[in-house]
Amino acid sequence: MRLTVRLSGPVALTAALATLAVSAPPAAYAADPPAKTPTAVGHGGAVSSVDADATAAGIEVLRKGGNAVDAAVATAAALGVTEPYSAGVGGGGYLVFYDARSGKVRTLDGRETAPRTAGADYFLEDGKPIPFAEAVTSGLSVGTPGTPATWENALRRWGTLRLGAALKPAERLADRGFTVDETFRQQTASNEKRFRAFPASRELFLPGGELPVVGSTLRNPDLADTYRELARKGTRALYAGELGEDVVRTVRKPPVDPASDLAVRKGQLTADDLRRYRALEQRPSHLDYRGLDVYGMAPSSSGGTTVGEALNILESTDVRDLSGTQYLHRFLEASRIAFADRNRWVGDPRFEDVPTRELLSQRYADSRACLISPDKALTSPLAPGDPRNPGDGCEASGKAVPENREGLSTTSLTASDKWGNVVAYTLTIESTGGSGVTVPGRGFLLNNELTDFNFIPVTPGVPDPNLPGPGKRPRSSMAPTIAVQDGKPLLAAGSPGGATIITTVLQILLGRIDRDLSLPEALAAPRASQRNAAVTQAEPGFLALPERERLEALGHAFTSTPEIGAAAALERLPDGRWLAAAEPVRRGGGSAAVTHPSPSGA
Ligand code: GLU
Repeated sequence: MRLTVRLSGPVALTAALATLAVSAPPAAYAADPPAKTPTAVGHGGAVSSVDADATAAGIEVLRKGGNAVDAAVATAAALGVTEPYSAGVGGGGYLVFYDARSGKVRTLDGRETAPRTAGADYFLEDGKPIPFAEAVTSGLSVGTPGTPATWENALRRWGTLRLGAALKPAERLADRGFTVDETFRQQTASNEKRFRAFPASRELFLPGGELPVVGSTLRNPDLADTYRELARKGTRALYAGELGEDVVRTVRKPPVDPASDLAVRKGQLTADDLRRYRALEQRPSHLDYRGLDVYGMAPSSSGGTTVGEALNILESTDVRDLSGTQYLHRFLEASRIAFADRNRWVGDPRFEDVPTRELLSQRYADSRACLISPDKALTSPLAPGDPRNPGDGCEASGKAVPENREGLSTTSLTASDKWGNVVAYTLTIESTGGSGVTVPGRGFLLNNELTDFNFIPVTPGVPDPNLPGPGKRPRSSMAPTIAVQDGKPLLAAGSPGGATIITTVLQILLGRIDRDLSLPEALAAPRASQRNAAVTQAEPGFLALPERERLEALGHAFTSTPEIGAAAALERLPDGRWLAAAEPVRRGGGSAAVTHPSPSGA
């Protein structure tokens, strides 16, 4: 069913909410933390991220005439300073770009790759998978970083700035330092034990051997130097230079304190792996949802196909007119079904025969949608369907494939400019704190992204598209998404949160498009995440909803989790202004800003 999207209703409320909260972004990076607000409305360009310094870096670039791509890179580089446990030079990510000139959406897959030596048995020892915790803190789980290549590529293809200019605000921020907040202190505390084992991590993140104090300034001159080196030499410094040599040396023999009892496995990355790395420009995932063109990341991320399949499943229902209970029921069921398929079918398409087009076909979604009953929740694990042979019936085929583990770190940003370009960009080093290993003298942590591979086939006897392979990208859930209406960008959103990213982005889109929520309301709404498991994760706010009991009566079971995701989003308002939205509370609250804020009350 194709419905007309009536997005005008909530916009008035959105704008009213937003103008109340508007404040100009700070101009300088003093040790004083910049003021932050989760909502901003105005003309020009917009940036939303989890961090006020990072958003300010993007806004600075926009104010100097840069475009959304320049701003996205500047914001991401600043996040490398202030959110070093989530993202940075040592990690990877996915960038989705709406190009106002052509009206087309482009994407860059900057996912980390496994070493050339990696076979399907990469994480096996004596035929058995190594303990997951031993992979988490190791050289073995470090993939070739893709973030610097993503930045350079995005700027070269679509930006206006050279890499050095886009890195400038972040370089300054790394030199001057940022103010430690409660979230940063907590994230450091959860990494303390392993950081102590690596002298370079200890010196950087445990100043004076202690947890950083809230309100203190954390500087990272080594990272400032790394940014300067990238500015001077380009990303060759990493992919074919001394910076790369340092990365390879660190991965192959992680520098552990001899006094530590932590056994740290060595990695296999080589200079050749780095030299071969490419960030890939590829077609976005695409589907039509109620007249909107929804674009996302195609595999190697499962974000685009899984958000897309769930939306397609819901397309045949008038979600707008459902009761609160039926809406949430169908959101959970659509996501359950889409995850059953994702777990079976999605991997790196350069190695696996991934049915991307079929997973996004309306015909396939309709063949799955009929599994949903209004009276009874489905039982998980639910078997996948066969996207290439949808059939007319409603039977699931094959064996159920449970999901693999994924970290809960990562960060997401959105940016737009006065020309109408939009970027949604999600980047990560996988776990909070990545591998725990800082490259000595370079100021950044290495990822442990290869733990996103399945170590062994998750269901014996069923082909697993997410086993390691030489140069292969582990399956991701990152789901930066841009929705376009009549050829013009309307919404952009993304979130961290491992596999919950998919359900968070889906819930935000549904809230905004179908449930008459303003964008800030859609971000603030309590979240739940059903990923083809017997039990659905839900935030305390979700469990307090009046619908909870009715959902339980339908057969849904919930487990409480403090927080799901930390989204960043933006919307183009009908009058041409941008609304930037960040989290009001999660992860300590995010930061949204515009270059030319509307005066309060306008
Ligand atoms: N590694 C995860 C992925 O690619 C992201 C981790 C996270 O969001 O914390 O989906």
